[in-house]
Amino acid sequence: MKENIYDVIIIGSGMSGLSAASILSQLGKKKVLVLERHFKIGGFTHTFKRKSEHGEYHWDVGLHYVGQMEEGTATRAMFDYVTQGNVRWNKMPDPYDVFIYPDFNFKIREKESNFKYDLINKFPHEEKSIEKYFVDLKKVSAWFGRYNFSLTLPLQARLISSVISSKGSNLALMTLKEYLDQNFSDVKLKALLASQWGDYGLPPSQSALAVHALIVSHYINGGFYPVGGSKEIADSIIPIVESYGGALFVNNFVKEIIIEKGKAVGVKVSEKKGNGFIDIEYYSEKIISTAGAYITYTQFVPKTNEPGFIDEVKNFKLGAAHVNLYLGLKENPAKLGIKGENYWIYNSYDHDQRFVSNDDLIEGKVNGVYISFPSMKDPEARNHTAEIITFTRYKPFEKWASEPWKNRGEEYQKLKEKISDALINFADDHLKGFKKLIDYKELSTPLSTVYFTGNPEGAIYGIPAAPERYKMKWIGPYTHVKNLYLSGADAFGHGIVGGLMGGAITAALVMKGIRGIPNVFKEAMKFQYKK
Ligand SMILES: Cc1cc2nc3c(=O)[nH]c(=O)nc-3n(C[C@H](O)[C@H](O)[C@H](O)COP(=O)(O)OP(=O)(O)OC[C@H]3O[C@@H](n4cnc5c(N)ncnc54)[C@H](O)[C@@H]3O)c2cc1C
Repeated sequence: MKENIYDVIIIGSGMSGLSAASILSQLGKKKVLVLERHFKIGGFTHTFKRKSEHGEYHWDVGLHYVGQMEEGTATRAMFDYVTQGNVRWNKMPDPYDVFIYPDFNFKIREKESNFKYDLINKFPHEEKSIEKYFVDLKKVSAWFGRYNFSLTLPLQARLISSVISSKGSNLALMTLKEYLDQNFSDVKLKALLASQWGDYGLPPSQSALAVHALIVSHYINGGFYPVGGSKEIADSIIPIVESYGGALFVNNFVKEIIIEKGKAVGVKVSEKKGNGFIDIEYYSEKIISTAGAYITYTQFVPKTNEPGFIDEVKNFKLGAAHVNLYLGLKENPAKLGIKGENYWIYNSYDHDQRFVSNDDLIEGKVNGVYISFPSMKDPEARNHTAEIITFTRYKPFEKWASEPWKNRGEEYQKLKEKISDALINFADDHLKGFKKLIDYKELSTPLSTVYFTGNPEGAIYGIPAAPERYKMKWIGPYTHVKNLYLSGADAFGHGIVGGLMGGAITAALVMKGIRGIPNVFKEAMKFQYKK
């Protein structure tokens, strides 16, 4: 008789894994096991803290702002349902995103009408194209809805899926650069419209218009931040899962999916115990992997069950990696006129050139950054914090990959110092006085991402949102192995709401197939009305 049996096993405890676990527990009354390789539950929603003489600082690793959290929206209803209403959302200041270019600044105000008005005001000669841009964003967002629906159809209905997602795909699957070049002539306006590309990690020449439209629309009514930080998400969901007999284990590294007669029936896990590891097997009827398509197909699925499309997965370009400078501030950034909005600071109008010049970072040269002020968005934060993020590649850091975490040697430490100083100086050039606020600093590199998540080369957003991604048949919740599902960035979409909705939909599919989806949304709406 097999031991360690659960109804559903979920690999990964990020937003998608937690969302699926909560719904499977609440609605399906399932006994769910969540397995996480990190020593904390939460994936990119986990937080960490450091102490200094000025106090304790808390940072989120992968949540700075979330859109569509207004009361009454389907996304908010779903969030409230999976967390049982225990995550409170704080509205960010309006304007929420500020773009700083060499010779102009632009602030995005909440609401499409304001955004459009401000764009036309600044670029009146492009008025017609700006009007058309907002119409096209809606068309492309509608395509995204159809595309995501097509992913939920069983594999046997792939022909119908292709028909559903083909309508509108010519527009949605242009690159952003192609779209901007066809419709606009002003170089500054083209750069400005692409300013949020850091939210999906691909510059205009590589990103699908689809993902751009999704992100712009996602934030169009402003940003929200979870009171208490992103750890509140896991803190709310863990007790829900446990109350239905489920469990969430950290330090549990999934090595392989056990497949018997073509069906996934369990997982082989290496659990960290003290200084060593022990091997354990867990069994269940259904398994959801949220570790990403790349890890799932190249590492979890045994060679004997390799899918026919394995080379496509292996050869698909990996996504962007990043460095994140976590800062503890001894003074309130309000002193500099900052209210908690995000800053996107660029030293040129050419986002593509900037992206390929990312290796300059190793030489201490910064071309652009994103700065977030978590403490200013959180009414319960005790001490002030900031994060400076920029994209980079894994390669320049690779030579330290086999060195132990927190002890990668002097040369690595010096490189981190150089990058940190360069990021701080770049920020200070644009936000005068910023440097003087800093009390504590710590830089994470792509090696940190690999170490904690296992993501190949430190990629942060899963399979990159290039037009080709949306043509790949292996993107989506179903896999070639019966009872094995994918969720998270590579099943539906990246981001907190991508993870939330993807987790919810995969949970529905696991419980009742496509018929389960309306049920999950109905329950979420019911919970909203009860509140
Ligand atoms: C710097 C940064 C900033 C971001 N900012 C925002 C933002 O402001 N707003 C927004 O909406 N989104 C943001 N995102 C994106 C967002 O955080 C992610 O898209 C989302 O959290 C992904 O959730 P997920 O569940 O798909 O994946 P993850 O959170 O990555 O969860 C997958 C989990 O699987 C685990 N895992 C992998 N392999 C194994 C294994 N072998 N065994 C066991 N466990 C395993 C990993 O450790 C991880 O915990 C940001 C991301 C980053 C990195």
